[in-house]
Amino acid sequence: TVLVAGSANLDFVVRAAHAPAPGETVLGRELATYPGGKGANQALACARAGGAPTRMLLALGADAHAEPIERSLRDGGVELVVRRCDERATGTAFVCVADDGENAIVVAPGANAALRGDDLPALDGVGWLLLQLESPLDSVAAWARQARAAGVAVALNAAPAQALPSALLDDIDLLIVNEGELSALTGLADLDAALDAVRVPRVVVTLGARGCLARVDGARLRQDAFAVEAVDTTAAGDTFCGALIAALARGDDDFAAALRRACAASALACTRPGAQTSVPSHAEVEALLHT
Ligand code: ADP
Repeated sequence: TVLVAGSANLDFVVRAAHAPAPGETVLGRELATYPGGKGANQALACARAGGAPTRMLLALGADAHAEPIERSLRDGGVELVVRRCDERATGTAFVCVADDGENAIVVAPGANAALRGDDLPALDGVGWLLLQLESPLDSVAAWARQARAAGVAVALNAAPAQALPSALLDDIDLLIVNEGELSALTGLADLDAALDAVRVPRVVVTLGARGCLARVDGARLRQDAFAVEAVDTTAAGDTFCGALIAALARGDDDFAAALRRACAASALACTRPGAQTSVPSHAEVEALLHT
């Protein structure tokens, strides 16, 4: 089983000619709402990749925004461990997508901020714990410590970008970051130097349309991106993380093959709008891998 502990949001997305400048009001186009949040996106991507049962610890408010989030995850096959917060709103993200493709986002974390270190469910049968940084940092560190102590492999997607306490990194087996997050973590702009500087046994850096680079127990692995017509890269990184951990949790010891699967799944996520709505199925990934 893969356990994901992290955030779930409802995304309110509006496209507009440009994102508003301070003090400006912009008339956008139609409103779209999508279930999102890094934790929930990654849990769904892991479940849809198939092979490993996926469970998620998440916090939701007692409001109408919780229902579409729960439905999206359950329909995707994720088993939910919900901490219900009556005093907080369900997490929401307000996203403006400008016509040039740039995003401007404000997140109201709401219930996500209430997840605590002792909320982690029992780890029996769990092979991997997958974490992100949209939950309180001390909770993330406590979950990693509990998993490490129980012999569970811990993967951290260190997003959104921030510096991390070294005690947290000590409990991480696999770190997944994009280039910006890697340089925020290490203070180094040079990719190779930054990759070597992180004190984690396995590190994967995603490189957008250039694929990904990994350092696995001292060796470098490189995987090109799959060529697709990208229309919306929202959740590409999350799909990558979920698909990668699903492949590793299946007992696939071939890390290079797992990277290839993650690149195929995340390329497909770029071809469709929205966060969880864009996560591909196992069959779609298989089809791309065998073209
Ligand atoms: P993030 O969205 O977290 O910044 P990236 O932009 O690095 O992450 O994208 C994550 C993964 O998604 C990449 O490693 C790649 O496999 C895939 N990807 C992203 N953009 C494209 C693209 N334009 N074409 C194909 N694959 C892409």
